[in-house]
Amino acid sequence: MHHMTLAEIARGLADKKFSSEELTQTLLARIVQLDPQLNSFISLTEELALSQAKAADARRANGESGALLGAPIAHKDLFCTQGIRTSCGSKMLDNFKAPYDATVVAKLAAAGAVTLGKTNMDEFAMGSANESSYYGAVKNPWNLEHVPGGSSGGSAAAVAARLLPAATATDTGGSIRQPAAFTNLTGLKPTYGRVSRWGMIAYASSLDQGGPLARTAEDCAILLQGMAGFDPNDSTSIDEPVPDYSASLNGSLQGLRIGVPKEYFSAGLDPRIAELTHNSIKALEKLGAVIKPISLPNMQHAIPAYYVIAPAEASSNLSRFDGVRFGYRCENPDNLMDLYKRSRGEGFGAEVQRRIMVGAYALSAGYYDAYYLKAQKIRRLVKNDFMAAFNEVDIILGPTTPNPAWKLGAKSSDPVAEYLEDVYTITANLAGLPGLSMPAGFVDGLPVGVQLLAPYFQEGRLLNVAHQYQLNTDWHTRTPTGF
Ligand code: GLN
Repeated sequence: MHHMTLAEIARGLADKKFSSEELTQTLLARIVQLDPQLNSFISLTEELALSQAKAADARRANGESGALLGAPIAHKDLFCTQGIRTSCGSKMLDNFKAPYDATVVAKLAAAGAVTLGKTNMDEFAMGSANESSYYGAVKNPWNLEHVPGGSSGGSAAAVAARLLPAATATDTGGSIRQPAAFTNLTGLKPTYGRVSRWGMIAYASSLDQGGPLARTAEDCAILLQGMAGFDPNDSTSIDEPVPDYSASLNGSLQGLRIGVPKEYFSAGLDPRIAELTHNSIKALEKLGAVIKPISLPNMQHAIPAYYVIAPAEASSNLSRFDGVRFGYRCENPDNLMDLYKRSRGEGFGAEVQRRIMVGAYALSAGYYDAYYLKAQKIRRLVKNDFMAAFNEVDIILGPTTPNPAWKLGAKSSDPVAEYLEDVYTITANLAGLPGLSMPAGFVDGLPVGVQLLAPYFQEGRLLNVAHQYQLNTDWHTRTPTGF
């Protein structure tokens, strides 16, 4: 039962092969049995799951249908869930029970999805390895000595290990696509503004975007359908109709123009990943796609710009955690300043404190022009590069990451080495574009992903290309041994 995709579950439920309650019980038992090896969950929500499953079964018995009705999922632990701990992977929010549901959580619940729990993540979504969580590192099911990627490492490890078919995640600089690549999943970061950020605890508000992590493009289409849409509660949500993503999967790739940026194949890229990327290009050519070399000349400036903008926004967003209103408060403060300092010093982990310091510095008088303003200008140049490229091509293809998943601890003492691993993913966030990572092979037994980028609101095109690729390859069907 645990091997089924969301699409297979939807068919099984519609054909009455099993009930949502049976499936939910099976998966909850599997999580209890196997997750201690992975640490992919921060909280299990058994009671909620069983009541939602029973309600979904009753709705089906009454003649309702829907691809998510009775489908088990989990939420990254930065989506607010009413009455349930929403920790953001931090000691700061270890005791925080959200008073309301995030829009994404409410929409998926209304569609009948069943919440099995809240998944582990890098603290406040800062990281590329899922090692900065207050609840401990998450392990990669493909090799328990390796990281699963971050910051949505819990969602990725759980889905890859077949503990559940799909999960929500967020992507500020790659946190959906990079863990998808590291664990052999398909993950989609939508266009900025496509999915509501209301109730999604903010890291860097102009970059953050929620999206699906699943095993197939077909399942990403199903989950995105339940997440996307205009939300008046989010002032950056865009009032554009949501297309039928599942209906977009079957388009022909004949004549599709795929741009391959020459800057992607530079010295930092593992040559084995370069080869797998070229193999996926060949597979798409066989399906009728036409390859065009392109250039993204400002890509080299993207990492420094991102690591100014994201910490700057984070330093502002995280100022609300002051020991007064939310979460952790230190013991016996001497005065108000002591309360602020110790609550934040004791509640935030090292990486979060580093980002707050970098961000506050970049925003301070005298440095604002030199760092923050300069970074914003680079951001515009990165976007302009993409706009020029999309005049000539329909999608852009390249590796998702320069290296496969590294060993736990290998980069934790060198933050910059970890930042450099985001080189292929962060440009899409700076430009607000949609991006998808799909399984494309293995290096030393570890999965490798290929990234597709498309113009604004062309999530359907990304899903279409990935689905056609998956009909003709079997990388995405491989299962980690032991799971
Ligand atoms: N690794 C990047 C960072 O630490 C991206 C994380 C994310 O997408 N949430 O900022």
